[in-house]
Amino acid sequence: MPGFTPGRRWQPPFSPFKREKFGNRLLISVEKIVKGPLFGCRMCGNCLLQETAFICSMECPKGVRNGPCGGSTEEHCYVDETRPCMWYKIYDRSFRMGRQDKLLEVLPPLDWDKVGGETWADVVVQVRKVGARYFFTGLLNKDPIQRSIVWDSVFRPIRQPDWWNGDSEYHPPAYTEPVSTLERRLKAGEFVVTAEVAPPLTTATKKLIENIQMVKPYVAAINFTDSPSATPRMSSWACSSIAVQNGAEPVMQIAARDRTRIGLQSEVLGSNALGVRNILCLSGDSMSMAPEPRGRMDVLDLDSIQMLWILRRMRDENKYLDGRNIKFPPKFFLGAAASPFASEPRFQALREHKKINAGAQFFQTNLVYDADGLEIWLNEMAKRNILDKVFILVGITPLKSLKVAQYMHNEVPGVVIPPKVLQRMEAAGDKAEEEGVQIALELIEAIKGKQGVNGIHLMAVGWEEIVPRIITEAGLLPKDFVAPPPKAAVAAKPA
Ligand code: SF4
Repeated sequence: MPGFTPGRRWQPPFSPFKREKFGNRLLISVEKIVKGPLFGCRMCGNCLLQETAFICSMECPKGVRNGPCGGSTEEHCYVDETRPCMWYKIYDRSFRMGRQDKLLEVLPPLDWDKVGGETWADVVVQVRKVGARYFFTGLLNKDPIQRSIVWDSVFRPIRQPDWWNGDSEYHPPAYTEPVSTLERRLKAGEFVVTAEVAPPLTTATKKLIENIQMVKPYVAAINFTDSPSATPRMSSWACSSIAVQNGAEPVMQIAARDRTRIGLQSEVLGSNALGVRNILCLSGDSMSMAPEPRGRMDVLDLDSIQMLWILRRMRDENKYLDGRNIKFPPKFFLGAAASPFASEPRFQALREHKKINAGAQFFQTNLVYDADGLEIWLNEMAKRNILDKVFILVGITPLKSLKVAQYMHNEVPGVVIPPKVLQRMEAAGDKAEEEGVQIALELIEAIKGKQGVNGIHLMAVGWEEIVPRIITEAGLLPKDFVAPPPKAAVAAKPA
């Protein structure tokens, strides 16, 4: 790890003025001096180094504490290309050290009371509690399992406070009756289609409702993004509520980027009361993609895996994060994003495994343009025995032009478009749109029969009119399909 790591991700609030006992200040300084150069420590006060192959994860600009984001690569972080992806380094080192199973434990968000403080005093207290002799002799035990039990007797209570209690286990949903049409269709073994409809940029809802009415008969559910590219639009929960009012089933996307732990829990309760049942938990595009003037990029309260863990416990254990009971708990079918082409397939499969353990019941993947590459990722998932615990909907976007294809390949994190697809788009010239549709249809055909694939997720953003044609020509019309009237009459909401 570097001795000098520029750009601290956070600043402890008012630390220079905080009243602190001299002994504490001294301990903080010593810990900083020792752990900084050794591990790149950011003094988050909620140390996870034992779980992260002794590389501090706090340098990740998206603040994820549970594994790489969907844009992670070996070369660099997508948010700041001058830095490596810290999570790629952690995964790489963990695999080389044979410590990859440690990465499955669902780790808590920061306890902000501790940020900027030391963690060594907690270790001393815990060693005293279990007995110094037990701890130190236990670490000399030849049996690695015994050693790890002794180690965990001290470090687990520190990294897993009672209000979180994360683990590496799969927690099946505590209900059996499907809570949404999407869940019911997937459980019935249907090959389902979901589609994305772009939220409006204004208060006018005419186009939004037209798109909902147009797409509704063809799909099991409609996704509404949550300020993609960190750019404000109509909120996902408002669009989802409008979809419910118009007889369509929404998938409400929710980005950790814009939520605190309080805001998240309040918002999902409210949207559930409005009839929203499918929720897709995302970390969200980095604020660095936002239009100027940009807000703070370093105030991040949760990551997507922590969101899943919180929502699953609200639903299955009737509990808020703070431990209060929820008398009438929400009903969710919980989803997450998967990124088959980011970093390495085995790394991504481990990350998806952790999401399933945290609560993900379905995945909608990032855009796929290479069916063979998808197979490699699916094989890694199969090796982990997780394909029967999650439904996978593969992300498909018809390309409109060579320019769009090149932009996606070069700029969108986690998207890889093979050269032969780019060449086809170039050769198509002014027929590029039609070529894009044909490529999408060929991909769906190649993907349809793959083991572990339960459907597709069409993301024809700004080109929603193409959705009915693709679904019809791909032979994916739902069993109960009824053709919509030629043009649904929709009343415009006054702006
Ligand atoms: S690529 Fe993603 S996970 Fe890796 S350091 Fe950057 S933001 Fe964090």
